[in-house]
Amino acid sequence: MSETPCRGCEELLELYLDGELAEEEVREAEEHLDACGFCHRHYRFERLLRAYMRQAISEPIPPELSSKLAALASKTEQ
Ligand SMILES: [Zn+2]
Repeated sequence: MSETPCRGCEELLELYLDGELAEEEVREAEEHLDACGFCHRHYRFERLLRAYMRQAISEPIPPELSSKLAALASKTEQ
């Protein structure tokens, strides 16, 4: 697996995270996530983060959850 940042698919995966892709494009994005080590790690974290952000609108994030998130973020940046 390459650790080289993957720029070509950034736009596709941003739309994927936003839920703005057509069914066929979602499949394409998910295939890319399986095949690309960088995107797999990067966008898996992004999806988690967005899930937490949505939750944070209605309720505060428990301290243990935000420290888990911080640990995950520092792993992703390595
Ligand atoms: Zn990629």
